Amino acid sequence: MQIDLRSDTVTLPSVPMRQAMASAPVGDDVYGEDPTVNSLEERVAELFGKEAGVFAPTGSLANQLAIRTLVAPGEELLVETNSHIVRAELGAAAVFSGITTRTWHAERGLLSAHDALSIAKPNSGSYLVSTTAIAVENTHNFGGGTIQPIEEIRALHKGAQELGLYLHLDGARIFNAHIASGVALKEYGKYFDTISVCLSKGLGAPVGSIALSTKDRISKARVWRKRYGAGMRQVGILAAAGHFALDNNQTRLVDDHRRAKYLATQLNSVLASLVNPDHVQTNIVGLNFADLPISASEFAQLAKSEGVLVSVLGPKFGRLVTHVDIDDEAMEKSAEILIKLLQRTLMSK
Ligand SMILES: *Cc1c(COP(=O)(O)O)cnc(C)c1O
Repeated sequence: MQIDLRSDTVTLPSVPMRQAMASAPVGDDVYGEDPTVNSLEERVAELFGKEAGVFAPTGSLANQLAIRTLVAPGEELLVETNSHIVRAELGAAAVFSGITTRTWHAERGLLSAHDALSIAKPNSGSYLVSTTAIAVENTHNFGGGTIQPIEEIRALHKGAQELGLYLHLDGARIFNAHIASGVALKEYGKYFDTISVCLSKGLGAPVGSIALSTKDRISKARVWRKRYGAGMRQVGILAAAGHFALDNNQTRLVDDHRRAKYLATQLNSVLASLVNPDHVQTNIVGLNFADLPISASEFAQLAKSEGVLVSVLGPKFGRLVTHVDIDDEAMEKSAEILIKLLQRTLMSK
C-alpha cells in the first residue's frame, strides 16, 4: 500500500461521505433549484459572515470568479510571487479577466502588509496601470502551509481602505489556518471583499469550492460561472460531500497539523537544512534538498519505490502534505522510510 503525501487533494471519499452524497436531495442548480447546493452556499457564507456564496467545481474557478468581479479589464491585481493565483492557475486572470498582475516576494509566503501596500498604485491615470485589488493566500501553499498573521491582515485591510483597494482571500486552506491559529472564520471574513474556500483540500471532499462575497457580486459571479461553462445541474451530490466535510472534518485538522510537525521533526533530526519544524504550522512540510547530493525528483523516485509518494515542486524542492487518509501508523511508517532513504543518500555522498 502506498502512503500518498503528495497533497491533501488525493483523499478518497469515505463510505459515510459517499452515503451522504447518494442520499442528497438534488435539483437543477442552473435554475437555482438544488436544495443541497443552496444550503451549502448559505452555510459557508454564514460561516465567514458573508452575504452570499456560489459553488464552483475548483478553487481556481472560485478565485477567478472573485477576481472577475473585483478587477476590471486592464486593471491590476497584486499578489505574492509564489501564490497559487499567479503560479498555478495558468494565466487564467489574464485570459479570462483581461487583467494584469504584479507581485511582491515574501519569505515562506508570510504576509507583510507593508510590502504589499508599498507596490500598490491605485488611480494611476491614463499612462500607468491602476491597482484595483490585492490577493492574500492563507495558508500559503508553496510557502509551506504558512499562516498569515491576523495583525498583518488587519494592517493590510487598513492600508487597502485608505487607498480604496479591494482585498481577495485565496482561502483554499483557510480551515487549516483557522484551526491552527484559533482565529475565527468570521474574523478572517471581515477583512476581505471576496473569499474562495476549498472543500476538496484538507476537508476531504472529492470536489468543490465556494466563492463568497456580497449578494450583488455573487449574482454577477453566477453569470460568469455559467459563461465559463461551469453551470452545473444536479450538483447537490457534490455539495453533500461538502456538507459532510464541514460536519466531520474540521476539528480533525489538528491531527494533520500534529502529524506534519512530527514528520518535520523526524526529518530535521537527520538533516537540519531539510526543514525547520518551527516553520511547519499546518499540514504542509516543504523540503529543501539543497544539501542532498540528489535532486528532489530523484529522492521522490527512491521514496516511491519504497511506497511513499512525495511531491516535487522544484529541482531541489519537495513537499509532504498530511490529510484525512494519513493516520498515525502511516505517519510513523513514512517517517521511518524517508529517514532511511535520507541516511542512505547522505552516506553515499
Ligand atoms: C489547491 C489550491 C487552489 C485551488 O485549486 P484547484 O485545484 O483549482 O481546486 C487555490 N489556491 C491554493 C492556494 C491552492 O492550494
